[in-house]
Amino acid sequence: MQEQLLAWYDRQGRVLPWRVRPEDRDAGQVADPYAVWLSEIMLQQTTVAHATPYWQKFLAEFPSVIDLANADRDRILTMWAGLGYYARARNLHKCAGVIRDQYDGNFPKTEAELLKLPGIGPYTAATIAAICFDEATNIVDGNVERVVSRIFKIDAPLPKARPEYRRLAKTLAPKFRPGDYGQAIMDLGATICTPRSPKCQICPWQSYCTALKKGTPTDYPKKLKKAKLPIRYGAAFVLRHGDSILLRRRPDKGLLGGMMGFPGTEWGEKPKDPLKAAPESRNWEKCEGYVKHIFTHFELRLDVYRAEAIDKSVTGVWASLKDIDEFALPTVMKKVMSASSK
Ligand code: SF4
Repeated sequence: MQEQLLAWYDRQGRVLPWRVRPEDRDAGQVADPYAVWLSEIMLQQTTVAHATPYWQKFLAEFPSVIDLANADRDRILTMWAGLGYYARARNLHKCAGVIRDQYDGNFPKTEAELLKLPGIGPYTAATIAAICFDEATNIVDGNVERVVSRIFKIDAPLPKARPEYRRLAKTLAPKFRPGDYGQAIMDLGATICTPRSPKCQICPWQSYCTALKKGTPTDYPKKLKKAKLPIRYGAAFVLRHGDSILLRRRPDKGLLGGMMGFPGTEWGEKPKDPLKAAPESRNWEKCEGYVKHIFTHFELRLDVYRAEAIDKSVTGVWASLKDIDEFALPTVMKKVMSASSK
């Protein structure tokens, strides 16, 4: 199975800008752990197409992990805007600092050491160790879980049975070419063994696939039904003065930590009197409707209020509307801004 998958990868694996393909390696190229790490953090929860321009921009501005560690954190957060899950950007900076200060600017070379770094979880540690340092790890992401669930026809549902998926994935992982194998099985999941219409006729593992034999590949992986997302309520205040608008940096801890946004209430389970939290008492006008935004664990509904300030005495950052893109507001704040001008 391993040899067949690797032969398929040699012929048809994806070409990605951070990837060293087998033919590149034969020509003497080696994988750069910094570039691989950046790509893996960015690719969590987003697609290759969406993450690639961010990866290119980061590498152009911060060519090494030391450049990233020495960068201003606000600049990193600004460049990250649009990728979501902002804790990853804060951890990116923290992790770069640890590598600069404790590892002389060199990534540690083992899965166990990599796991100690901020923001690096089991999947990322296994991937960097295999791709960059040839350690025979067990790389398991969502694509691998899907492939494994079909090969073995695993009836236990995710996420509860994850350890079982990992155990079975490990039985397939070879000791040779561990990085190529990890990338190959992820590519198989991403391009052939897709969630809704797997291309089993051209799959290198079709003769081993139990779900295909039973004619039920798309029944796998089994997943527990997701509970309906709870709703949280809040309000945001958009204060303008001429062509300027009031922004404030959100506290470091919590959602969108460290990002710029509009002043607002806390987000709670029940709507509360929002005007108690308004930046300053004035004639706030409630805008039509509300802003809806889906986070991983809840749905947020924000009422939006707007007002015109007589001067810029209210504390915060008065951003000029024409330069607003430089503040790289997170998506939910962009929604607030557009709701305020309706
Ligand atoms: S045969 Fe089909 S279901 Fe089975 S691993 Fe290949 S693509 Fe996936």
